[in-house]
Amino acid sequence: MSSQREIFFSNLAQTSPAPLALEIVKADGVYLYDASGKTYFDLISGISVSSVGHRHPKVIEAIKGQMDNYLHLMVYGEYIQSPQVKFAELLTQHLPKNLSSVFFTGSGSEATEGAMKLAKRFTGRTGIVSFSNAYHGSTQGALSIAGNEELKNSFRPLLPGIKILSFNSSEDLDQIDSQTACVIVEPIQGEAGVIVPENNFLKHLRTRCDETGALLVFDEIQTAFGRTGKLFAFEHYDVIPDIILLGKALGGGMPSGAFISSKEIMQALTYNPVLGHITTFGGHPLCCAAGNAAMIALLNEKLMEGVKQKEECFRKNLVHSSIKNIRGKGLFLALEFENEKLNREIVALCIEKGVIVDWFLFAPHFMRIAPPLTITEAQIETACKLISESINQLTHI
Ligand code: PMP
Repeated sequence: MSSQREIFFSNLAQTSPAPLALEIVKADGVYLYDASGKTYFDLISGISVSSVGHRHPKVIEAIKGQMDNYLHLMVYGEYIQSPQVKFAELLTQHLPKNLSSVFFTGSGSEATEGAMKLAKRFTGRTGIVSFSNAYHGSTQGALSIAGNEELKNSFRPLLPGIKILSFNSSEDLDQIDSQTACVIVEPIQGEAGVIVPENNFLKHLRTRCDETGALLVFDEIQTAFGRTGKLFAFEHYDVIPDIILLGKALGGGMPSGAFISSKEIMQALTYNPVLGHITTFGGHPLCCAAGNAAMIALLNEKLMEGVKQKEECFRKNLVHSSIKNIRGKGLFLALEFENEKLNREIVALCIEKGVIVDWFLFAPHFMRIAPPLTITEAQIETACKLISESINQLTHI
């Protein structure tokens, strides 16, 4: 009989020649457990998903409760389903007034697609502006606005009318013009190793969008739900978008995405054509029940309040001559090493020692640290010790 590992390699599509291939059998809080009984610190939260920890008891309770009522009933938008209604109410209560209409999707990429279509339909324009190093998803629309040639080049032709500007360069913003339907930006960029906006870049972007009538779309798929210390990253910069994209932690560990805008803008998907964006599974009852419970837990347990101090704890415990720089904000951190080879070796050794870290899609010499926000300072200290040991072992200090 084939082992699970053999079946994984032969019957599941492989997205890289060297997957981590950990065989995890259980997850709980900040810990993952593999088939041999080994315990791991999850310092990446399944890529910024498990922000309230794996299998938060309130999330599990909500899923179990909803299971007894119904699973999928109907394509999105037709029936009044209580998990969707409750979650939309909670989300919009915590967003600025203009972000009051929620369109649930099945993934982050689908939220990006929906927002691109919405902006085109609402403005009647076709141009879309995004930024170098941006990642907004892997579908062809989202890939068209990715700020990385290597990822997208083999899949051309992609969408026309895309301009990719330099992130943090306010001088480039005059390229946003009367043809631009929307500007899509991560307020804190993830995949090039956590790049924070500088010199009021987001404010300048807001001003330029207002001048030209382009909609401003913030992709907070990775930065929302406390990851950077605020519920939404835009709160750090005092700039409000016209559309916000959510995903990842939105579902509390279940697959979910959303694009949220004003009622006025969102209505553009209701007419001409009707059903301007369609999804079968967007707003799935189990995902909304789980997401709602996760957000309530995040707020009730005041998880965001500890984020700044936990960031400091990482920074204090990760001082090493081989760490060139630590970029990021809150519990969204990127450790810079000399080169990709060293980083990959350190990542592999950390995992061997029971600390799951990773690299970034566009920055393979940066190590990703984005643990559940529930991680304690004692757990951070232990994990950092293991990271330092790994670095020492590989740099022979
Ligand atoms: N935008 C950002 C900023 C992301 O980090 C991701 C996922 N890494 C996406 C969009 C795409 O989300 P999904 O993988 O759920 O389609």
